[in-house]
Amino acid sequence: MQRPDKRIILCLAHMSGNEMKYIQEAFDQNWVVPLGPNVNKFEEELKRFVSSPVPSKGAEEGNTLHAEAYPQSIGPHESDPEKLWPHPIDDPHLKDKQVVALASGTSAVHLALVALGVGPGDEVVCQSFTFCASSHPVVYQGATPVFVDSEADTWNMDPELLEEAIRDRLAKTGKKPKAIIVVYLYGMPGKIAEILDVAARYGIPVIEDAAEGLGSRYDGRVCGTFGQYGVLSFNGNKMITTSGGGALICPNEEMKNQVMFYATQAREAFPYYQHEKIGFNYRLSNICAGIGRGQMTVLDEHIAHHRHLAKLYAEAFSKIDGVSYHGGGDVEVDPAHAPQGHEIRSNFWLNTITLDPALGVRGQENAYATAVKGAVGGAAGVVHQTGRAHTDLEPNTNVEALRMALDMANVESRPVWKPMHCQPVYKDAPAYTNGVSVSVFKRGLCLPSGPLVTEKDVDYIVGTIKDNIL
Ligand SMILES: *Cc1c(COP(=O)(O)O)cnc(C)c1O
Repeated sequence: MQRPDKRIILCLAHMSGNEMKYIQEAFDQNWVVPLGPNVNKFEEELKRFVSSPVPSKGAEEGNTLHAEAYPQSIGPHESDPEKLWPHPIDDPHLKDKQVVALASGTSAVHLALVALGVGPGDEVVCQSFTFCASSHPVVYQGATPVFVDSEADTWNMDPELLEEAIRDRLAKTGKKPKAIIVVYLYGMPGKIAEILDVAARYGIPVIEDAAEGLGSRYDGRVCGTFGQYGVLSFNGNKMITTSGGGALICPNEEMKNQVMFYATQAREAFPYYQHEKIGFNYRLSNICAGIGRGQMTVLDEHIAHHRHLAKLYAEAFSKIDGVSYHGGGDVEVDPAHAPQGHEIRSNFWLNTITLDPALGVRGQENAYATAVKGAVGGAAGVVHQTGRAHTDLEPNTNVEALRMALDMANVESRPVWKPMHCQPVYKDAPAYTNGVSVSVFKRGLCLPSGPLVTEKDVDYIVGTIKDNIL
């Protein structure tokens, strides 16, 4: 197979061509600050989007980006939320929702905890199988994360284990956890109905970390709108980007105001600087929001494209022994795992596979032979070398060998998140485990999934994987 000249990246930002217009507007109006018309408009658009119904099949297929046609097929759109999402779902709960644009997804998680009054001595239940940004803000607040493992269908928080954890914390500390953070790993919606049910029975608010799940849906509704708060991220590799940014979906106008107050250094209403609370500098810049407005014009296309790739990968891997595609119960991609009575619809931010531990992969005997020099994802050139090749928990050697083979073939792939309860920094945090996240961590690999990945790329990636299986 022909090695591509350009590296095939996991999820690369893709510009619509509309971004510069909104950035230019910000310069023209001299709004080069962390507030302004782009921020307000971007929030309005996000609010509109999170209230939108499932696009019709025709509309989604119309947006599906076949072969080489994408991304050139996208024409200039007007960023008009009422045209993009003309018919919001008629639901009073959704109508009240408000969105605050912030500097990052991490700051959105942090402000949700602040808004819920999480402080020193509190415990917050958090899905263990996630990126560190879900749980680190708990520590910023002086509280303790209590990690809960995942179920095998969606790889997200196991509702039964959640209940067990809450009961045990009550028995051990006499206090119930102050909040529950659920995550939509790789975009896959978790068992949110069951989780909300447990949360309601114990009266604990839910924060949905939908940083990876922008536009994923559960029973037709956008993820991030089910709990008290919903977190979105617009980092460079997420579903859409503002270069860096995030948002918090708030339950109503009052809480939106509260969150904006904390996001702008908690300034009290006086003609001089009066501070009665500790605040943060977390608002999104008007320039970045301009990028966001441009990106909103292609959000539906991005989701359609990720879902299109998912179908291609699912189909291809169904024919390869020893490799399992993670469809997680999405009704179209993996009907076999569809949960009873609920419709799961992932945005397939990243497509993931797991390798049977018995599967032989070329070069497996040399996996982990040398210590790597950079952090995963590059971390913007920051180097914090350990000089070690091993930790006490790492992906199986066949997974590492496949990652290296893809790398040699100019394809980026990455191990799945290493569970938080296995991270040295969290060694003292309570954890309720069932082995699922550790098992997936050892077997899992994330594959290129972004808007710049073509059908031909998928063929090449699958072909390269096949070529390296013994
Ligand atoms: C990316 C991500 C975040 C944080 O978003 P940033 O915008 O990078 O701060 C939070 N949670 C999860 C699960 C993520 O993947």
